[in-house]
Amino acid sequence: MNKLDLERKKNRILYRELFFEADKTFKEQLNKLKSDFSCSKCLSCCKIRYSQFSPADIFELSKQEDIISQEYIKFFIPYGADEFFTYEQDNEIQIELNNKKALETDNNYTSSVIIKSLEPVYFYYCRHLNNNKCSYSDKNFLCDNFPNSITTILPENCSFREWQKLCTDKIKNEIAPDVYSKASEIQNYSHNFSCNGCATCCNLACSEYSYEELKQKAQNGDEFAKQFTSIFIPYKTLDEAREIFPDYVDLVKQTLDDDENIYFYHCPHLSSENTCTTYEKRPGICRDFPDNPLSILPTTCGFYEWKEEVMVASMTLHAMTYIYKFYLEKIETVL
Ligand code: SF4
Ligand code: SF4
Ligand code: SF4
Repeated sequence: MNKLDLERKKNRILYRELFFEADKTFKEQLNKLKSDFSCSKCLSCCKIRYSQFSPADIFELSKQEDIISQEYIKFFIPYGADEFFTYEQDNEIQIELNNKKALETDNNYTSSVIIKSLEPVYFYYCRHLNNNKCSYSDKNFLCDNFPNSITTILPENCSFREWQKLCTDKIKNEIAPDVYSKASEIQNYSHNFSCNGCATCCNLACSEYSYEELKQKAQNGDEFAKQFTSIFIPYKTLDEAREIFPDYVDLVKQTLDDDENIYFYHCPHLSSENTCTTYEKRPGICRDFPDNPLSILPTTCGFYEWKEEVMVASMTLHAMTYIYKFYLEKIETVL
């Protein structure tokens, strides 16, 4: 493995680790808020429990030592099960029949699960629910921890819906602004570094889009594409670009996956002395470059040291942005 491969691999591993850490911290933050709410014992989640897994799937998972499935089998019976049903045999249930029977039991909640969930689901009820009372007195994590995810679709009357609402408020009013402010701090810190006029970014800009695609995006009103196509023109071939900056072209190419495209461009306003002939009128993308420490910078760039210094923090913020947007969208879908 050469030096570039090693660098690329190292960054991917680092990003993955930071992502898992950010995800863990994010979930801990939301789960902390859960303790302010408690179950009002409406028993709706005992009458209707949904899972993407069929009874046969659950049985298979339980054989693979999946603790949740093993516990599920002890408590939940699928709707539509006849007298011969067991998880071990005769465990195939038609999903249409299963959904129909659940709808007959609780039309509102069942239909809201069917509408809001992105995949087909099976419904179950608890075998310990007798005459609208729970007859199971011991602790069990399936009930004690319900809902075990902030993205669970809950019955209208479940008290934990307020927890979900509080979490969306926290994401919108605390987490997102905090991430934004930290990202701005990182960007502002770049002002401690300066362009040394190496002209690499004028001589070799790259984009995942071809020139035609960028022109089309510009026509459709994309501001970045408008500015980009107002100055940059494409290299005719990859070799032409490589002739000028072999290391940088290879660095960019090796940072990408095999199925990712990359196109190289250069600016005709650059003089033979490496100065900008349209300096006063240069567009915002030139003035603001580099506007993101995660963009690939040549080692000659005056901002390279800044990028190296803030890389871990930037990767963490990038991961956090992805995570909070993902969860916010999911929670808003289930609410
Ligand atoms: S639906 Fe919510 S409030 Fe009702 S029993 Fe289940 S956890 Fe408790
Ligand atoms: S307009 Fe000037 S600063 Fe912008 S890429 Fe071209 S030469 Fe560089
Ligand atoms: S690559 Fe960096 S140092 Fe070189 S001209 Fe562009 S911004 Fe300036």
